Amino acid sequence: MTTPTIARPIDGKAAAAAVREKVAAEVARLSRENGLVPGLAVVLVGDDPASAAYVRSKGKATVAAGMRSFEHRLPASASQAELLDVVALLNADPTVHGILVQLPVPPQIDPHAVIMAIDPRKDVDGLHPENAGRLASGLPALVPCTPLGCLHLTKSVHSSLAGLEAVVVGRSNLVGKPVAQLLLAENATVTLAHSKTRDLPAVCRRADILVAAVGKPGMIRGDWVKPGATVIDVGINRVATDDGKGRLTGDVAYDEAEKVAGHITPVPGGVGPTTVAFLLVNTVRAACAAAGLPAPAL
Ligand code: NDP
Repeated sequence: MTTPTIARPIDGKAAAAAVREKVAAEVARLSRENGLVPGLAVVLVGDDPASAAYVRSKGKATVAAGMRSFEHRLPASASQAELLDVVALLNADPTVHGILVQLPVPPQIDPHAVIMAIDPRKDVDGLHPENAGRLASGLPALVPCTPLGCLHLTKSVHSSLAGLEAVVVGRSNLVGKPVAQLLLAENATVTLAHSKTRDLPAVCRRADILVAAVGKPGMIRGDWVKPGATVIDVGINRVATDDGKGRLTGDVAYDEAEKVAGHITPVPGGVGPTTVAFLLVNTVRAACAAAGLPAPAL
């Protein structure tokens, strides 16, 4: 009889802490040697509590890394023109190297118009079409933070991704598409699956690396996972609990998948913490590029 194996969890908290430590050291060096203090501006429209909590944690992490943090709050009733005015001011401010407008924005504002208004050199969310195009073309780009975290965690368990089968479920501009581009750039053989994919379980079963970015709790079942595969669960879903507090869960049925996978990211504590860490990395990269300095080794 074979003993069932349990996948090794990938510790995103520890990985993120290590990245943040390297960022802080790089920020200290830039300040000492070049008089450069990277600055990140976060803009929040409205008072959605989850978005406000994200903005607070980004601000705290920015300050903890020794960088300048700027926060701009607009009321939920703000017009698109008002938001674009704030973006224009930040584009012109030389102490601001990274601009992030917390999404989603209220319905009267077109998120694409906002993304297009951000100077691509300050677009630390990596959503501007110029950055998306540069990534797809294999040129240096500011890449969305969550996909950078996914790649970092994947590479923490695979020294090379060349020739591996990677399946990414979800094709958003924020997660699925850039994750696929990053895996492709690492020479994985990439399938980008979505809601119209036929026989998704069979497609997932091919994957040596399975990335779930769907937004549906527990959708990826244990028998969709190839034995020994690396499973990266991007999903953050709040589900109800008996005590009424609710809890966060991923897109992967963890209890099932951990019995089949080789490595798996938990939710919470997997991909989530790496997102903020790579936001800091992107801000330092943008600051170095603005100052004409070489890209930092982060
Ligand atoms: P989107 O809603 O923008 O995209 C979801 C994708 O999933 C779409 O491409 C959609 O396909 C696909 N999809 C939906 N239903 C199915 C299905 N039944 N079968 C296959 N594919 C399906 O979400 P995001 O990419 O922004 O986010 C995905 C998840 O990741 C969410 O849970 C979000 O909270 C989380 N997230 C976590 C972050 C982190 O820091 N860890 C950061 C960002 C997001 P189609 O295109 O065909 O509609």
